[in-house]
Amino acid sequence: MTTEAPPNRHDRFLQLFPKEPAFRLRQIEQAYFTPSMTGWESVTTLSKEMRATLMQEIPWISCTPVRTLSGGTGDTHKVVLAGYDKQLFESVLMANNRGQWTICVSSQIGCAMGCTFCATGTMGLKRSLSSDEIADQYRFWKSFLAGRPELPQRISNVVFMGMGEPLVNVENVKAAIHTWLACTDLGPTRITVSTVGVLPVLEAILKDPDWPAVRIAISLHSPEEESRRRIVPTTAPRFHTRLAKWTHDYQAIHGNRRHHVTFEYTLIAGVNDNAEEAEKLVHFVRKTSTVKVNVIPLNPVGGKSFTASSRQGIEIFKNILLGAGINVTERKTMGQDIAAACGQLALTIQSGGKVVG
Ligand code: SAH
Ligand code: SF4
Repeated sequence: MTTEAPPNRHDRFLQLFPKEPAFRLRQIEQAYFTPSMTGWESVTTLSKEMRATLMQEIPWISCTPVRTLSGGTGDTHKVVLAGYDKQLFESVLMANNRGQWTICVSSQIGCAMGCTFCATGTMGLKRSLSSDEIADQYRFWKSFLAGRPELPQRISNVVFMGMGEPLVNVENVKAAIHTWLACTDLGPTRITVSTVGVLPVLEAILKDPDWPAVRIAISLHSPEEESRRRIVPTTAPRFHTRLAKWTHDYQAIHGNRRHHVTFEYTLIAGVNDNAEEAEKLVHFVRKTSTVKVNVIPLNPVGGKSFTASSRQGIEIFKNILLGAGINVTERKTMGQDIAAACGQLALTIQSGGKVVG
């Protein structure tokens, strides 16, 4: 079975209507993101015949909800979506500190990278998502919110921190981002691509004029190559040296504070969280350009023996970085009761939370 993403609806449209002008595709893309448009029948700028064909041939939305769960505190919601082939993947909506919403989108069904502390990694890779299946996660959450007018309506941020490794599916990720930039009020600095650090793709992005100027977060998790490889098995030779160089090259292109790079560092008790690791991290960060460090307390994952660092351990680790003048933030854990927190997305049934759809 192939793990390639399915074709995009634009390609299908061009097969059906090869003579249509390019603006037609843009018009249709806008229609998908217009709240008053609820199906092909409402796109009255298209001829009746064209609409009739499209109704038969192209689903109005590429992924359909199977189950929606809301966390007990009401600040996190998770949906299980079915793609065109009925394969399932997950997407998360989280309240953010702007009083608006951040969506955490998936780029693949499962993941081949096999990071040892991540539930998605245990699924292996089923397949990549098409750009439509990525972009439509935004559309799904917009319609979810429209049905709940008592909630804030704006999705102000998107993070690629759901299932999958975005840089293994980079063309579809890029296409989805361009769609959001063209059809929603999201700006590039409100979109973050989180990656395990696929160096050849990171390096290619530097030369790609079509790469949108979004934020990039690198899942670092260890200041040294060998210890990183034990928890992130895809760690390439000379990972840290190449990554440090990459941050400088990136800075030279996007030399602007709004495009800073973040290192994500999941703190795992007894694995990467002692004071010595923190000192080594300081040493490594000093070799990079302006980066921010975001520490993530480990979220529990079934069947894994790892545990989160203690509160005291997290504070000591953060204080060492802060004392060295490094910009450190800690990710607030959300949605654990519905298995919607970072690294927990693996289509497991949770007992917590409330099924709302
Ligand atoms: N594949 C990408 C994006 C998806 S994972 C990446 O690895 O960056 C999103 C974030 O969740 C990553 O920083 C990842 O390291 C982190 N993560 C994975 N499992 C986790 C867990 N059990 N607890 C906390 N964070 C986890
Ligand atoms: Fe894949 Fe990211 Fe999970 Fe690693 S942490 S297995 S790259 S989803």
